[in-house]
Amino acid sequence: YLKSKENGTNTRVKSKPQNGRAGRPEKFTFSSKPNLENIRRMQAEFTDERDWNQFHQPRNLLLALVGEVGELAELFQWRGGVAEGLPDWTESERENLAHELSDVLIYLLELAEKCHVDLPQAVLRKMVQNRRKYPASKVHGSAKKYTEYTD
Ligand SMILES: [Mg+2]
Repeated sequence: YLKSKENGTNTRVKSKPQNGRAGRPEKFTFSSKPNLENIRRMQAEFTDERDWNQFHQPRNLLLALVGEVGELAELFQWRGGVAEGLPDWTESERENLAHELSDVLIYLLELAEKCHVDLPQAVLRKMVQNRRKYPASKVHGSAKKYTEYTD
């Protein structure tokens, strides 16, 4: 993946080894823009322009979000195991996936907005909690739930 300095987008290129880790593909990263607040604002404009705010109460947004998660799951249904990077997926399948992931994110952000949860800051607090709950020294390489660990 190559990062374009001009517009902050990522362009897909052939994976190549780096850092001397032979055969290990370069790590995937997101573009820096738009950020979550940019996306929240774009969706707010979209709903304002259509007078759809009257329908976008938290519970309706939650149900819409779950519906989109269902559409996302449909893309993986009956495919068995899928490897990282989705090597066997066609471009149009990848584009459908990008669309459904976006639907999920858009509704998630709007739900957070309508619940007055500042999601970027909430994520930071949650990551602190996760680190406390799952100390790397204790859980390295294990998939156990935190309740299964003893000091
Ligand atoms: Mg959808």
